[in-house]
Amino acid sequence: MAGYEIRRRLEERERLLSPFAAKSYASRGRERPEEPCPLRTEFQRDRDRILHTKAFRRLKHKTQVFIAPQGDHFVTRLTHTLEVAQIARTIARALNLNEDLTEAIALGHDIGHPPFGHAGEEALDELLPGGFRHAQQGLRVVECLERGGQGLNLTWEVRDGIRYSSKPREDILGLGEGTPSTLEGQVVRIADAVAYLNHDVADAIRAGLIAEDDLPSVVKEVLGATPSQRIDTMIRDIVEASWAATGEMGLDFTPRIVMGEKVREAANALREFLFERVYRWEGRRREWEIAKEVVRALYLYFLQNPHQIQSEFVLAEDPPWRRAADYVAGMTDHYALETARCLRLVPDLLPMR
Ligand code: MG
Repeated sequence: MAGYEIRRRLEERERLLSPFAAKSYASRGRERPEEPCPLRTEFQRDRDRILHTKAFRRLKHKTQVFIAPQGDHFVTRLTHTLEVAQIARTIARALNLNEDLTEAIALGHDIGHPPFGHAGEEALDELLPGGFRHAQQGLRVVECLERGGQGLNLTWEVRDGIRYSSKPREDILGLGEGTPSTLEGQVVRIADAVAYLNHDVADAIRAGLIAEDDLPSVVKEVLGATPSQRIDTMIRDIVEASWAATGEMGLDFTPRIVMGEKVREAANALREFLFERVYRWEGRRREWEIAKEVVRALYLYFLQNPHQIQSEFVLAEDPPWRRAADYVAGMTDHYALETARCLRLVPDLLPMR
């Protein structure tokens, strides 16, 4: 079979997806038009491009919640990203949405995360003109920092999904302003929450911060008593509630990815519990502050000494603050700590925990 026939056959299959699914053949396209691939659809191609970036590889050494943890079983940004992709694909396939687009957005959703997770993000946000958000930085990585300043030239749908992948703190669904345009983007956003709520509980238990018994009773009763039950409850609920919310047709009807009321309340209770007992727990404040100080010191150092930036992921034509920010945001936890130590920027860095 000739190559192009294969891609056309795959595109033909997409006609069987939900009427609300994004179709690769109807994509809004790329900034710079390209010859189509003989074998893969446009969204498959984007997924592969993200997977092969160096920024994706660096996720292995970036913090999810616990900073530079000693144990082998703590979640990193990379394992988190893979869990999000798995959960999102399960939901997308069940809802007859575009799995390739879903996977591409999922793999790229945290690609702009700076070192030390949200502590690093907060430090850069306080320093940069106009602030710093990891989702915006993710867009920068794929649009202009990768491939020697060319960017990956991804389709509009994948970039939209990355841009709107993070949620405000208030609610697990965080819909409203800044919602992804495709249902596939919405699936990733909710899958992100399902993944972190579950693995952060496991990591916090592993770190000795909480015990399974401490979980709020509504969480145990509604979501389940074990980690696998809780993931399962959330995914099933999202599929059922969203099926109802995407199955109707009508002129004013906007399909959405949602959770049922009861499960959503329990998931929000779990989120609040994690904020109180893990993310913003007083006992982790020192670790949080040291992480911020490392990022702050690195940024200010490279702002003053831009000629010392040795990275293929900064753009020579950018102003010094932008180059320093891109360089520091791209660092892994380990690289950031080592660089700060070598430059003697922050004394008494370790032990952090
Ligand atoms: Mg995430």
